[in-house]
Amino acid sequence: MGMFDTIYVKTPLICPACGAGVRSLQTKEFDCTMAHFKIGSVLSGSSVMTGIVKETLWCDACSKTRRESGDKADPPPEPPVYLVIWHSILAGVEQDLAKAEARLAAVDRLDLIGWLDEAQREAARWRRHHHSLHHDVQRWHEYLARAAAPEPEATGELAEKRRAFQRLFDLPQEILTAPDPLAAILTANKHADEEADD
Ligand SMILES: [Zn+2]
Repeated sequence: MGMFDTIYVKTPLICPACGAGVRSLQTKEFDCTMAHFKIGSVLSGSSVMTGIVKETLWCDACSKTRRESGDKADPPPEPPVYLVIWHSILAGVEQDLAKAEARLAAVDRLDLIGWLDEAQREAARWRRHHHSLHHDVQRWHEYLARAAAPEPEATGELAEKRRAFQRLFDLPQEILTAPDPLAAILTANKHADEEADD
């Protein structure tokens, strides 16, 4: 099979044979580093700076139907899909050549601003999620270090205040008292990751 890159589209492409929506396609046109691209991505390794690259659409649903029916005949040719490339940026993915040509002709500064805006939002989202996970793991690490080398239990108002202050920065009790706190941390941060992958 070898290496390839994957292009994801927000609006599903439609398989002309069965009507199934196709959300991604694999391509060997670029660097083949298992990279994920979407509209607005800079296509590293594209030999086409500005133009249209013809790819094929692979439909999982059609392939599954063929497998299940035991159809041994050669599969029908895969339908074409056109990658619109503008100054090495993926500007569109179209199933109709005329639409791809129109898209290429219509790229303008507003598209650039839109892509930049989206890239910045995505970077900020990933930063937030990384920070949140890192922060939780760090607090768990500190908690373990304190538990491994407990300080002599001081008494008095000042010591109690200090402990109360410390608790403000601790992980929530439901994580600290969970049967598997590390799993609880991963679960708490999982939803954030899923959003970021969207
Ligand atoms: Zn299909």
